[in-house]
Formats: sequence, structure tokens, C-alpha cells
Amino acid sequence: MKTMNKRLILDGHNDTLQAFYLPNKTQRSFFEKTDTGHIDLPRAKMGGLGGGFFSIFVPQSPPANMEPGEGIGQNHKASVDRVMKPIEFSYAHETTRKGIEALFDLEAKSEGRLKVVRTTEELQSALEEDRLAAIIHFEGAEAIEPNLDSLSGFYTEGLRSIGIVWSRPNIFGYGVDLRVQGTPDQGPGLTQSGKDLVKACNQLGILIDLSHLNEKGFWDVEKISLSPLVATHSCVHALSPSPRNLTDKQLNAIKASGGVVGINFSVRFLRRDGKEIPETPLCELVRHFQYVAERIGVDHVAIGSDFDGTTILKEIGDVTGLPKLMKALQNSGFDEESLTKISLKNWVRVLSATWK
Ligand SMILES: [Zn+2]
Repeated sequence: MKTMNKRLILDGHNDTLQAFYLPNKTQRSFFEKTDTGHIDLPRAKMGGLGGGFFSIFVPQSPPANMEPGEGIGQNHKASVDRVMKPIEFSYAHETTRKGIEALFDLEAKSEGRLKVVRTTEELQSALEEDRLAAIIHFEGAEAIEPNLDSLSGFYTEGLRSIGIVWSRPNIFGYGVDLRVQGTPDQGPGLTQSGKDLVKACNQLGILIDLSHLNEKGFWDVEKISLSPLVATHSCVHALSPSPRNLTDKQLNAIKASGGVVGINFSVRFLRRDGKEIPETPLCELVRHFQYVAERIGVDHVAIGSDFDGTTILKEIGDVTGLPKLMKALQNSGFDEESLTKISLKNWVRVLSATWK
């Protein structure tokens, strides 16, 4: 199937894989168009999605031990106020393995329509050849031991992006909690293992994602990392004071490093009141793009949808709504060159500078 839109989009974050490795998710096909979730292959083509970061997330606790309403599903969608507890390495490792297998299973069944990409050359080829490019991302590094033994194995398999933490503490650092409003300045900086992880990722050429990391951790990465600073799916704290959003000072640091922010479509991170209202107008999303572009430049803003991981604007709906966003950005004053940077080029530039 040919892509229906000329403009290809690279997206900084989706949680689509969860439907294919977490047992209590609604079963659906990736290859048939459905109304379930936000991304499947036919809808990706309709929306002009060229590829993106496919997140592997480990829910709070194994399904067998779960109480009703707890754990799985408590991703970004949750509006809980409490701090999440750390999770076990063996459980995280096993679940992460299932996530990787699920992605390679989709690739095998895709008959060339989906490709796991490990280099910028593979990414460019996939985009040119109309194959959906999947970048393996871990949302939290719990599947890796303190001595980082399994990191190089995961890298060989295709891991190219790691969020050091999700919104909970682990042996590497501390994530921001899931409160609707507050500062990202919560808790201490990276542990020694966390600092070692940053250096190891630099050496291997794995992108380090700052979304979900607390502010002291952010500044530790800023000091240590040799790569551009990246938040794959965050918004602007000045517009919506969620702990998940970036302060002006953090945005300035991202600019200084040549990095990028993928703007999240979650209504909770867009609205000033943080309320989960799907009817929130599209202009609320647009103003986060405008703010970042005006403050630190259009070279540092991109898309980080969070499709299949959160409640997004009804006006976008699912991945087929991407052209609507691009049109709204155009109407708000972004020129053609800027739109190409936002939709694709900024991600490609940062990945080229980060991957080996
Ligand atoms: Zn996330």
C-alpha cells in the first residue's frame, strides 16, 4: 500500500507494541485497519507515518499478582497521585524480552512492510522504500542489571533508545511521579549505575531519552552525555505545569546540545489544568510546538505522539490525524521548511548525531 500523504512523519514515541505482548490488552491485528487503539499499519500509511520509536514498557506488576485496576494500563493514562514502586529485574527482563519478540514477530509477518532499523542508513532506506521504520525504545531501563551486562546484547538485537526511567525509581535514577501538576524537581539525581549507563549508551550509540526523568537526573545527563539531549515525548511546563513537562531552563539546555523535544499529544500534558478532556482543541497542542520553536528554534521541536499510551486529542483521534496536525501547524505560521524539520528532519539529524 502506498503512503497517501506526501509528507512522511517520524514519531518520537508510541506504545503500540503493548497490544502484542501484554496479556490483558485488547487483541487486534497490526495489519488490518481497526478502530482499536491509535496505530496499525493501514492507518499508519493513511496518516503518513514513516516510522517511529516503538516503546517497550513494563507495567507496574505482573498480571498474576494484580489487584483489579492496578498495574497494567497504569501508563500515562492513569491519573493516580501516588509514587510508583520499583519493579523486579527478572520480571522486567522477561517482559522486555516478550516486547522485543513481539516486534520482530510483526516484522516477520509484515512481508517487508515494517522494518526494525538500527542505523540512519536503514532508517532512510525504510522511509524511501515505504516500509514503516521501527526504532526499539525501552521506556525505563529495569531490564538491565547494575553491571550493564545485558546492554550490549540488547544493542546487538536492535535497541537504539533508552529512557533511563519511567515514572518510578529504579537502580539508575528517579522518574517524576504521575501527579497532574507539579515540578519535575523531585528526588535525587542519577545513581552511579545511572551515570555508568549514560556513558555506556554514548559509547554504543544509544539515544538517551529524558522524558519521565526527574530534574536532577536531567542535569546529570546534561553534564555527562556527549550526545544531543532528547525528550522523546514531553511538552512545555510553562504552558502546562505537569512534572512530565520541560522547564524553560531544560529547553535551553536541549537547544545548547543540538537536541530535540518530541511534543506529546496527551491532553494531560497540554492543558494548563492537566485535565483529561479529549475534546481539548487542537490549538492547545499547536501552541506547545509554537512555544518551543519560538523559544529555542524550530530545529529543536518534533513529534512525540504517545499514540497507544495515553488519552490524546479527539481532533487527532489516531495516527490518521497526523496530517490534520501538520495542516494546523501550517495555518499557525510554520513554513514548508519548518514543517519538514518538525515532521522528519530534526529526528533524523539527532539520530545521526547519536547512533554510531
Ligand atoms: Zn512515556
